[in-house]
Amino acid sequence: MRRIVRVLFLSLLLVCPACERGRMFRSRFTMNVRCPVCGIVFERGIGEFSGGMAINTVATSSVAVSGAALAFFTNLPVLPLILALTLVSTVFALWFYRHARALWAGILFLTGSVQED
Ligand SMILES: [Zn+2]
Repeated sequence: MRRIVRVLFLSLLLVCPACERGRMFRSRFTMNVRCPVCGIVFERGIGEFSGGMAINTVATSSVAVSGAALAFFTNLPVLPLILALTLVSTVFALWFYRHARALWAGILFLTGSVQED
């Protein structure tokens, strides 16, 4: 259990879960194919980025639904609330993109799909 938490935490910090030193991203939206320190491949299959996209979609939807719940508990006007939620959701999705992909790479590492060669 402790290993799982550690790997997921390192992934959220965008650090390689195998060597705990390599950076997973080389720029804002570009993930390194291999860890620059230990050389493991973060996403082996072509479609594996879709796992990160799914995590990002669920997280962003959760933020949007939580914000939409404000409409039920407050008297905020609906149109500004929708516009604010659209803006917040978009910014959140862009900010969380790297963390979601790194989290998926961490999950792949935990399941043994990402291994050192
Ligand atoms: Zn590494």
